[in-house]
Amino acid sequence: MKAIGKFILLELSEFSEWLSMQQVTRKITLIQQHHTYMPGYKQFKKNNHFELCMSMEKFHMERGFAEIAQHFTTFPDGTIMYGRNLNTIPAGIKGANTNGICIEHLGNFDKGGDNMTDAHRHTIIEMTKQLLKRFKLTACDQTVVYHHWYDLTLGKRIKKEGTGHTKSCPGTNFFGGNTVDDFNKNFLPLLLK
Ligand SMILES: [Zn+2]
Repeated sequence: MKAIGKFILLELSEFSEWLSMQQVTRKITLIQQHHTYMPGYKQFKKNNHFELCMSMEKFHMERGFAEIAQHFTTFPDGTIMYGRNLNTIPAGIKGANTNGICIEHLGNFDKGGDNMTDAHRHTIIEMTKQLLKRFKLTACDQTVVYHHWYDLTLGKRIKKEGTGHTKSCPGTNFFGGNTVDDFNKNFLPLLLK
């Protein structure tokens, strides 16, 4: 565990105990999955976790946010950065923030983008499982959500795949795809293991 200011960098092995010590007063009903797109794997230099998060925060503040938008950022080496207080609503998905926890996975997981490392993959699965457990949520497509499933303009979940104004986040190649079907086929089984 290493801290610079409010940013805390955790190994996956430290996450569970750290999480158990956090007092969370917000009601949490969903865990958001995002990719950062930019910065991606090319910008990750193995020792610049803090610099990357601080520069993301600067970018978010320039867009008018009070601080970094996401609670957590995950990295290709499997580490996790805590950056935004869990008791503060994130700026992750319009229409799904009030009771949400926002995780940004560093990388571009659209098809043809970054190849997710095994360590990264393992952390994404395990931390999502641990968050579900902590907030007593059952893994399903209502508790674990992809940004892609929400209409960016309306701030509502889309009713039918391929409709509305959406972005590809967390990536068209994120665990085999970014649709609800892809989630149920590929990501959900890993959370239930
Ligand atoms: Zn997103």
